[in-house]
Amino acid sequence: MSCLFCKIAAGEIPSNVIYEDDDVFAFHDISPQAPTHFLVIPKKHIESVMHSTAEEQELLGKLMAKIPEIAKKAGIDGTGVRVVSNSGADAGQSVFHLHFHVLSGRKFGWPPG
Ligand code: AMP
Ligand code: ZN
Repeated sequence: MSCLFCKIAAGEIPSNVIYEDDDVFAFHDISPQAPTHFLVIPKKHIESVMHSTAEEQELLGKLMAKIPEIAKKAGIDGTGVRVVSNSGADAGQSVFHLHFHVLSGRKFGWPPG
């Protein structure tokens, strides 16, 4: 297994874990772009949002539905949250295991750069 986030989800590479269950793993981003910046990933290896299929419907629904609980654990207070998933190199994806960035604690511009 050569995927960085598969290794993090398996506990083989240490991370600053916020939440974990059988399907979902959440940990603080190593290079935070906001006062709170964490990543939520499925433990199952899926390359990106653009590689998800009907087979992942339940898993990804669960992952999304967990974000409010995880955000609360991470101390996000409800003033505004940006949830982002980059898919493909032009979109800025650098780790090719599906992840949702969850950012909060400052104002964000729109459109994104
Ligand atoms: P992306 O560029 O959208 O694929 O996002 C990948 C994210 O993973 C970046 O925000 C990185 O800072 C973060 N990252 C890379 N390696 C680690 C790591 N070992 N632990 C936590 N976050 C990481
Ligand atoms: Zn992976």
